[in-house]
Amino acid sequence: MLSRHCHWIDFRGCCLARCTHDIVRVAAQPSLRSLLAYKSNLAMSELNRRTMLEQSAAWMLAAGVGSAALSTSEASAQEPKPGPYADAKLVPGDLPPVAKDSFTIAVLPDTQNYSEKFPANFHAQTEWLVKHKADRNIVAVLHLGDVTNRNTVAEWEVAKSAMEKLDGHLPYFMALGNHDYSEGGGCKDRTTRYNDYFKLEKISQTPNFGGVYDKEPERLENIYHTLDAGGRKFLVIALEFGPRKDVVRWAAEVAAKHADREVILITHAYMYYDETRYDWKKFGAKQTWNPHSYPVAKATADDVSDGEELWSGLVAKSENFICTLNGHVLGDGLGRTITATPAGREVPQMLVNFQMKPNGGDGWLRLLEFQSDGKTVEVRDYSPTRGEQNESPQNRFTLTLAAPKVS
Ligand SMILES: [Zn+2]
Repeated sequence: MLSRHCHWIDFRGCCLARCTHDIVRVAAQPSLRSLLAYKSNLAMSELNRRTMLEQSAAWMLAAGVGSAALSTSEASAQEPKPGPYADAKLVPGDLPPVAKDSFTIAVLPDTQNYSEKFPANFHAQTEWLVKHKADRNIVAVLHLGDVTNRNTVAEWEVAKSAMEKLDGHLPYFMALGNHDYSEGGGCKDRTTRYNDYFKLEKISQTPNFGGVYDKEPERLENIYHTLDAGGRKFLVIALEFGPRKDVVRWAAEVAAKHADREVILITHAYMYYDETRYDWKKFGAKQTWNPHSYPVAKATADDVSDGEELWSGLVAKSENFICTLNGHVLGDGLGRTITATPAGREVPQMLVNFQMKPNGGDGWLRLLEFQSDGKTVEVRDYSPTRGEQNESPQNRFTLTLAAPKVS
């Protein structure tokens, strides 16, 4: 069925049967309590993310999301609810100071629930970034797409007003998600209201602007920006949801033309929560919410690319990508992998998405603190609305970027 939407809609609608199945299966395990206790003692990297998805789905149902599908007997049979922070290690208070000569790139994953229902959380994020620009040496903000939930005028107005708080303070680079396309956010085609609210005339005047997709010079969905920080030269390429094959061609040309820059790719759907890239040929619909499963794929003779296709057609080919970032995926909304290119450069790739937390995501954002050694990044997740960081190993870790191979 092609009406496979992601995110909250799934849990209210078309994926409910699967979730109900999961919760029944989880509830049927007599030793769930001891299992969860055991898992809590494991490093998170050892956890099977499919189990995390089941826990997440169980919590969402227990919390009333799609509650109609959960019978009283099923609910009462359920053992302790893991809750949205079962795997978290929350630490209240301000973040520790940044290291000397480091700089920070901030990441805003899926804001769709904020744009639709929790605008204060969106505003709190961008206000916090402006406020801490100096003390954390923040140099740019990346948005990973699903800016809105249903591509409505009201949601884009919220997104515009929240993002524009960064104007004059911090450059921001945005990718679009499936929910940003088509009436209702159904991703039936590549129409979007994005360009009505974020204007090329304005963005093309910013000092970081590089260029847009050569076949669509009036549109912003495929765009690159330059970024100079810490004595290093970066290029951020932002690609549409499930990029078209010719868009991938264009992006590879852009990366090749900027061989003197370390390239960061942001695109909405790339890695899945199981620590692998989206790979339609290998996994098909077993990896839910692959771009190939959306109506836009059917409407365009499958002219979309998933993570594996972006890896082989762009990241592995260009030899100057240092990392990739994406959002989109539910489950625990987290994933990481490292893959070597043909030249042996090990490229970290990262999924981060907080939209399944309460209040549309509880304001969580990710901070990438680039160290002065030129390769290390300290990763921290922080919520300005909760005033907490999450020090679980999935949320607080050290990343080694691919060795730059720039000329
Ligand atoms: Zn999405």
